[in-house]
Amino acid sequence: MTTYNIAIDGPAGAGKSTIARRVARELGFIYVDTGAMYRAMALYLLRQGIDRNDEKAIEAACSQIDISLRYHEGVQQVLLNGEDVSSLIRTEEVSQMTSAISVYAPVRQKLLELQRELAGTQNVIMDGRDIGTCVLPHAQTKIYLTAGSHVRAVRRFKELEEKGQMCNLEEIEHDIIERDYRDMHRDIAPLKQAEDAVLIDSSHMTIVQVVDAIMEAARKQGLEVTG
Ligand code: C5P
Repeated sequence: MTTYNIAIDGPAGAGKSTIARRVARELGFIYVDTGAMYRAMALYLLRQGIDRNDEKAIEAACSQIDISLRYHEGVQQVLLNGEDVSSLIRTEEVSQMTSAISVYAPVRQKLLELQRELAGTQNVIMDGRDIGTCVLPHAQTKIYLTAGSHVRAVRRFKELEEKGQMCNLEEIEHDIIERDYRDMHRDIAPLKQAEDAVLIDSSHMTIVQVVDAIMEAARKQGLEVTG
């Protein structure tokens, strides 16, 4: 079976997951959030008290970690050794640990296979940092979704405010810039735009406009979109 794959990469807070979820719903595709997989690995390492710089301990821990995905009413849940940890992986502590440990080859290798397997057996829209460049180099549609760091920080700030969480805009912007820098400058699978990716800067676009731009890109790459 030939599957249709849409890859979306971009920096933190660009709106990848919001957009990907909507496109998946419109197309009847499965949405795969690869960041959640890396976050679940980071959570395991935090729980074990493993230092983010201890490469040997991280490599050893990889063999004790099993990550899988499950879908409940269309919503992705990420399972860490069988436990649904979806609600525990969105803290700032986990975000920073995730970006620190995702530089290591054994961590990436473990998730790469699972991600390719998912995309090989069903139509997916997958978001992350290295999907168009590494994980799915043959994805029919590739998108690089970005926005200015201040815009992204403000969006994140509003999101946290809505959840009733105390936060500081400057700190959020600082953390986003730090995480992007690390993701873009690591040796293995750094975040960058694939040569054949369509660049979308969502700084001044609405969600609907971004979704439409992606549908249009997919249409141009042979996907039959009705409606
Ligand atoms: O997308 P999200 O913010 O949840 O990703 C968390 C972190 O996971 C990123 O900052 C990045 O370090 C890592 N990641 C990655 N490769 C991916 C997806 C996420 O390295 N494909």
